[in-house]
Amino acid sequence: VCDGVDTKGVEIIRNVAAYGHDQGTHSYIRYADVRVPGDHLLGERGEGFVVAQTRLGGGRIHHAMRTVGLVRRALEMTCERALSRVTKGEVLAAKQLVQEMIADSWLQTQQFRLLVLHTAWKVDRYDDYSRVRADISAVKAAMPQVLHDVASRALQLHGALGLSDEMPFAEMVLESFHMGLADGATDVHKLNLARQVLKEHTPTDDLFPPGTGPSCRPKPARNTTAFSTPPRLPAADRQLFNGARARRSGFPAAEAWERISRSPSSLGVPTHADDS
Ligand SMILES: Cc1cc2nc3c(=O)[nH]c(=O)nc-3n(C[C@H](O)[C@H](O)[C@H](O)COP(=O)(O)OP(=O)(O)OC[C@H]3O[C@@H](n4cnc5c(N)ncnc54)[C@H](O)[C@@H]3O)c2cc1C
Repeated sequence: VCDGVDTKGVEIIRNVAAYGHDQGTHSYIRYADVRVPGDHLLGERGEGFVVAQTRLGGGRIHHAMRTVGLVRRALEMTCERALSRVTKGEVLAAKQLVQEMIADSWLQTQQFRLLVLHTAWKVDRYDDYSRVRADISAVKAAMPQVLHDVASRALQLHGALGLSDEMPFAEMVLESFHMGLADGATDVHKLNLARQVLKEHTPTDDLFPPGTGPSCRPKPARNTTAFSTPPRLPAADRQLFNGARARRSGFPAAEAWERISRSPSSLGVPTHADDS
């Protein structure tokens, strides 16, 4: 650890702000023949990366917890707006496309929240970041997408107001890109996650997945009980449908359904009884 201002060889060129942030909190730093005194070492010599990664494990899940708060706020504002804003004679919430936006935002928020909660639970339970690496990578990789999507829908649903600097959404969308880079790029977290997941699986020498392929017994005949419940269309539609099919193919569709539901085997469809 060295003090950036007083340590010989450390030159802070200038602070740089992330776009949208008022003040620069990260710097361009030039290091030239810097010496770190032995008693300033954190951990053992050569283990700085381990120290940094351990610190970052906690940092990443904190980003995720803050993101849960942001997306929940965006979702709450989305719902309130949808229920309040009347256009073309009805509230936004009555329009199906708006309902889909709300459903998608709720789903993403809840899935992400539970992933973060589960990861935090494992962090507490194991007290060892190396055992939670895959979970933390997953949380970190999921975060920018959820924030981007939920905040974008909130912005869109608030119309022109949503884009204004009086609403938080544009900032949240920008923040999602921040979340996709700070403490490591999303792409790299996905690579790490895939590596960890693959470690838990083993390859097979067989050409086909286990339990499949030509050396296995053929699959038993399909359960035909599904045929016993023909789809029920409203009566008027059923008449039209059956009439159209009969005219097209000369095949009496309604009659065929009747026969299938009465006795599948009468049409040559195998049944459980045939298996025995
Ligand atoms: C404000 C801020 C604070 C940050 N704080 C920290 C911090 O405290 N600790 C920390 O460790 N990091 C931090 N970072 C992240 C770090 O500084 C880097 O920005 C980040 O690791 C990406 O490296 P890079 O900028 O050199 O981009 P590059 O390495 O040039 O990558 C650019 C892009 O290429 C793609 N890419 C890169 N590598 C791969 C790969 N292996 N496979 C597929 N695609 C790839 C990704 O899309 C990536 O975004 C911070 C970033 C910002 C913006």
